[in-house]
Amino acid sequence: MTEHVNVLIVGAGLSGIGAAHHIQKAFPQKSYAILEARDTIGGTWDLFRYPGIRSDSDMHTLGYRFRPWTEAKAIADGPSILAYVRDTATEAGIDKQIRFRHRVVRASWSSADARWTVTAERDGSAGSPVEFTCDFLLCCSGYYRYDKGFAPQFPGVERFAGPVVHPQFWPEELDYTGKRVVVIGSGATAVTLVPAMAETAAHVTMLQRSPTYVVAVPSRDPIANRLRRVLGARATYPIARWKNVLIGTVFYRLSRTRPELIKRAIRRGLVRALPAGYDIDTHFKPGYQPWDQRLCMAPDGDLFRAIRHGDASVVTDQIETFTADGIRLASGTELPADVVVSATGLNLLLFGGATLDVDGVAVDPANTLAYKGMMLSGVPNFAFTIGYTNASWTLKADLVSEYVCRLLARMDERGAAIATPINDDPVMETRPLMDFAAGYVQRSVHQLPKNGSRKPWQLGMSYAHDVVTLRHGRVDDGIMRFATGSQPQRLAAENRQAHERSDA
Ligand SMILES: Cc1cc2nc3c(=O)[nH]c(=O)nc-3n(C[C@H](O)[C@H](O)[C@H](O)COP(=O)(O)OP(=O)(O)OC[C@H]3O[C@@H](n4cnc5c(N)ncnc54)[C@H](O)[C@@H]3O)c2cc1C
Repeated sequence: MTEHVNVLIVGAGLSGIGAAHHIQKAFPQKSYAILEARDTIGGTWDLFRYPGIRSDSDMHTLGYRFRPWTEAKAIADGPSILAYVRDTATEAGIDKQIRFRHRVVRASWSSADARWTVTAERDGSAGSPVEFTCDFLLCCSGYYRYDKGFAPQFPGVERFAGPVVHPQFWPEELDYTGKRVVVIGSGATAVTLVPAMAETAAHVTMLQRSPTYVVAVPSRDPIANRLRRVLGARATYPIARWKNVLIGTVFYRLSRTRPELIKRAIRRGLVRALPAGYDIDTHFKPGYQPWDQRLCMAPDGDLFRAIRHGDASVVTDQIETFTADGIRLASGTELPADVVVSATGLNLLLFGGATLDVDGVAVDPANTLAYKGMMLSGVPNFAFTIGYTNASWTLKADLVSEYVCRLLARMDERGAAIATPINDDPVMETRPLMDFAAGYVQRSVHQLPKNGSRKPWQLGMSYAHDVVTLRHGRVDDGIMRFATGSQPQRLAAENRQAHERSDA
């Protein structure tokens, strides 16, 4: 028999667990379930197990709004973040609502029934796919493929005698003690891995094609820790959270409006942290402006310390070919290696790879507009969580859940079974959803929903602004159309028109 719930959440990661918490608190009488493809809670924070795995944003903003982060370290290690997510789930009984090994592959909306039919494949089971129905579908499936990291085909890699590992699938048994390691990449993962591996490896080289901005930040937040001793955890948390939002926002705004000022400040930090005469221009001076791509954080300057001590080094060059015992670079330099780590990034994936259709018409997300960065034009009773690129993911995830709760409450008040954001402007100019130069975004931005030329058809990148619109703004804004279960024909026609317009 097909199980029906009021709200169906896809994914039991940081976002899915947070969403469940918001929904069960706001609507104790509503039923919900979480479908999770894997056999465990935690998503990213369980999947990634490479040495040193940690957040690169502070836990006062990466933590949930409703659950204070109480540990002394604000830049936290992966296992602590995983424990935080799991404790949130078990303490609130959310774990009992999760159906593990259920990979959602399709969701079909019927206006006549005012509900979604969601098909999930059961991993590790020979059984046929199972179907659920729900009134509202909330997709918290993260933003990248779990089964495959981004792995460029390196020339000659088959000749290399040692292991080549991808951080997304870290082999537990890999022993790199006393070995020469090359980490390919210059993003957050490489910047985390290099100092962590340098603790026991003979030497770690970070091999990058081009540099990234790397900034040393304290791993502990002295203000938050001092306040916590005086005010207690619950009173301190919102203060620390808003302090960090403010600092992050000012830093981001200045990066966009006065990039030279920020570049000078970053460089001053690098001069202080790196050995005298270090070639900063070659290795730490990117060709783009700060925040065109995500800035990398080095907690307590760990990367720079490893370089100072001679345990790690940075090489900026191109790979010509792998050899049996290392990598030959375009400059002719030979880089000896026993182990190579390919920290080359992620493959972006929308809605966990699930397809959507509305009244039998397939939804191509690229032909839709993103409503408030969390719903799709013409797609009823559906929301998704994608966090900020310039601030902690959870800041947005909490707001998406809060907005969904407000929308559900408004539907109840109006006696509406259906809520659909409809774009009435057939000639609205569209733009890519994200103006972000990171490789994983650029490789896939054409598959994502579009931004419109005006609000609310835009993905906001300002938490303060989203607090105003998502937490306090009107739900009945004229763009969100409500229909009762007895008005499905009208709504189906509106949806069809919206899709036809976007196809045109
Ligand atoms: C190494 C790494 C470090 C990061 N560090 C930070 C940081 O410091 N700060 C920050 O803000 N962000 C960071 N991020 C981004 C990070 O992904 C988010 O912070 C956050 O963990 C996302 O949570 P989520 O629940 O939305 O997605 P995920 O953690 O990806 O969880 C998604 C869940 O959905 C499940 N799922 C996916 N598809 C399906 C499907 N079809 N059916 C059923 N279940 C499905 C997955 O199995 C998974 O459990 C980092 C990302 C990575 C990869």
